[in-house]
Amino acid sequence: MIIIESKYYVNSMDKANASVEKAKSGDTVVFVTKDCFGGQIQSEDQVMDSLDWSQINPATGPLYVEGACEGDVLKVEILNIEIADKGVMIDGGGEGVMGKLITDASTKILPIQDGKVIFNDKLAFPVNPMIGVIGTAPKGEGIPTGTPGDHGSNMDCTKIRKGATVYLPVNVDGALLAMGDLHALMGDGEVGVCGVETDGVVTVKITVLKNSKLPTPFIVDDKHAISVYSAETADEACEGATINMFNCLMNELHMTDHEAEMLLSVIGNVCICQIVDPERTARMEVPIGVFEAYGYKFA
Ligand code: CA
Ligand code: CA
Repeated sequence: MIIIESKYYVNSMDKANASVEKAKSGDTVVFVTKDCFGGQIQSEDQVMDSLDWSQINPATGPLYVEGACEGDVLKVEILNIEIADKGVMIDGGGEGVMGKLITDASTKILPIQDGKVIFNDKLAFPVNPMIGVIGTAPKGEGIPTGTPGDHGSNMDCTKIRKGATVYLPVNVDGALLAMGDLHALMGDGEVGVCGVETDGVVTVKITVLKNSKLPTPFIVDDKHAISVYSAETADEACEGATINMFNCLMNELHMTDHEAEMLLSVIGNVCICQIVDPERTARMEVPIGVFEAYGYKFA
């Protein structure tokens, strides 16, 4: 079993990053990850201004996948996500949707007990562990791990959890997969700029797909096929995710354009992933039963 410890991390997805480990298609790999603050926050006295922002969003890796070449698709099956027994949140400082309304900064440490996040003395919520940052190196310039894009990265998509399969583009030889920024729990939108940020351990199986035409990033779980898209505005992100799924229905199921559009209008759900990162991320979800009805199997 290949294990990549959290001391091996990057703060940008970049083809210039030296890989820290190699794997073959079909291998299982464990990524040990730090929280999005790089473990800097140990008490509620430490608010946003005191943080070293160069340490934000460490992504464990990158992993070089042998045989992964430009134009391939990297299939990443999320076999397991373990999280720590506490999470951290920050807010204020002009960040987030309420950035103009809340001027001072606050930090909260949330215990995680018996599978629940203890929010306050009245509220506790079941955890829903997810991966905030998962991506490959982009083709051009490196992109900070805080910024999502066609290469994945900081998508903050609540569907990237145990049991899901994430399809990412291979833009450079070896793909250079990295991940981090686990959340014990996060609402769609991530409106306050973070989820319940936590350290963790992610176990994935990686497979290189040749000749895949899936629009990436793409997610398949037991309920949905999901296209994910990031853009400058939430409107553009919603449109991009929708158009990618539209093309997918035509390419993979051979639907006509009218059939695909009407299907998306009837049964497709546009959802927001996050509206607080440098690029905004949305997804289009289609019930997996649509693909099954056509006898389609995802590679
Ligand atoms: Ca994030
Ligand atoms: Ca986060």
